[in-house]
Amino acid sequence: MTIAGPGPGDSMPRLDPRSPDLLTDLRSPDLLMVGGTVVDGTGRPGRRADVAISGDRIAAVGSIARSAAKRVLDVSNMAIAPGFIDAHGHSDIAVLSSPHLPSKVHQGITTEVMGNCGLAVAPLGAHTDADAVRSLLSIVDVDPGVAWRWRSMAEYLSTVESQGAAINVAVLAGHLAIRASCVGFDDRAATPTEIGDMQSMVDRALADGAVGLSSGLMYPPNAYARAAELTALGHVVARHGALFAFHMRNYGDRLLESVAEVLAVAEQSGCRVQISHLAVAGQRNWGKVARALDEIGAASRRGIDVGLDIYPYLAGSTNLTQLLPRWTLEGGTGKLLERLAEPTTRSRISADIEHNRLHDWHDILLAGGVFPGRADPVGRSVADLAALYDLPPVEVLLDLATASRGTAVIVAFGRSEDDLRAALMHPLSMIGSDGLGLDPAGPSGAGQPHPRSYGCYPRLLGSYVRDEHVLTLEAAVHKSTFQVAQRFAIPDRGVVAPGYVADLVVFDPAVIADHSTYTDPHQMATGISAVIVSGQAVLWDGQPTGRLPGVVFRRDHG
Ligand SMILES: [Zn+2]
Repeated sequence: MTIAGPGPGDSMPRLDPRSPDLLTDLRSPDLLMVGGTVVDGTGRPGRRADVAISGDRIAAVGSIARSAAKRVLDVSNMAIAPGFIDAHGHSDIAVLSSPHLPSKVHQGITTEVMGNCGLAVAPLGAHTDADAVRSLLSIVDVDPGVAWRWRSMAEYLSTVESQGAAINVAVLAGHLAIRASCVGFDDRAATPTEIGDMQSMVDRALADGAVGLSSGLMYPPNAYARAAELTALGHVVARHGALFAFHMRNYGDRLLESVAEVLAVAEQSGCRVQISHLAVAGQRNWGKVARALDEIGAASRRGIDVGLDIYPYLAGSTNLTQLLPRWTLEGGTGKLLERLAEPTTRSRISADIEHNRLHDWHDILLAGGVFPGRADPVGRSVADLAALYDLPPVEVLLDLATASRGTAVIVAFGRSEDDLRAALMHPLSMIGSDGLGLDPAGPSGAGQPHPRSYGCYPRLLGSYVRDEHVLTLEAAVHKSTFQVAQRFAIPDRGVVAPGYVADLVVFDPAVIADHSTYTDPHQMATGISAVIVSGQAVLWDGQPTGRLPGVVFRRDHG
């Protein structure tokens, strides 16, 4: 089954008012790509057209004389699309570790929205224990060599900007760092004063240029936030016209209640909301994604501004501690380790996990983490490790939590293909990899991370468009470009049209493919020949160029 892209109407892009001037530049464009099929990002049918670039802008799209151009690239049999705008990324530290972000560039991503799931690295309060916050962000903290020299969102954005990046960067402020700064790590409701403090931090971060706020309601201390707190923060987000993105409270037995919670925040505060990586775990819950989509669609029809993102895989990845009962995490990592070391509490934790677990132990793979003094368990399932150590699987899990001091990262299977396809096909869904820009040659290339960091978009375009016909090429590109630009108010990008910034990807729809797997993840995608950011190639002839033309977006308050 396929769905069409959007029809003409108010979602069509406005052309940049500067475009009339570009006729002058067209006398001698810097680059002319000829013979390709333009899939322009709006969802309209692809068409044969040449694309001329002058400076950092698209100068013309149509039939253009070769003689005019300084440089001509023959892209026959290739598609030219807007560079992919990753709606859901976690490269907050990766971009400082390796600003070339190879795993993102090689899959055609030209912009990433970072800071998702509440796991942003800013803002931090002036007196916040940054190390304690950092210990809760192990999923994104891929390089211990990166020094945290910022507190405010403005300082973080300047840090990224001064170092440079291959791709454009947009950042959400993180509720985790904000709640840790104002309330601490305890499991309790915030007081009215603390809620006011958090509102001020959100207000400041949005004024500093964050494109929105994210929360991760499964991650302590965000998990302790009550409705009043979320609504109060939603009011600030609404005042700025920004977006509030939610890693929801539950992606298992309580998926539908969790969707309702997000929609209630939107309804009561008037803010725009984004439901992150909509999926459900556990066979007993399969089919609930379709019901969640019905609820989301109904909310949209009654005026709630809601969108969602999704990536084309049947496994997720998170901290191993997410498999532990929530109460074990109260007070932070130190408290968790004390509880795991106390025999009676430990038995209670084991019993609690066995009683509630959604996953078969074969479906939990160790993906990363630091395990001092241990044989490296990364790349093996909990079931395998249990056989190896001759221990019950739940004991292996608790040992790994202790040995890694809470840093262990897992990949967890247990999702259904039907749920995934329902989400991909829904008109409100857009593509977000949930991945990081990893560098196999650098510190971020350790472990066996989820393949989404390397293969999200090529997998979408190869498996789900070309092979399975779940989406048309035009719809998939729209969900990966202009739909995301509109959602996050990223200006002048996401469409191949004169006047737009020349962020482009050139790929062969017949061969584009992901090669990263769960057991051999550090493999670049293929089939993408050029990736252009602001008119400069970051990937050319399939090879990285080493350029860092990416810009850091600051939300426009004008
Ligand atoms: Zn998340």
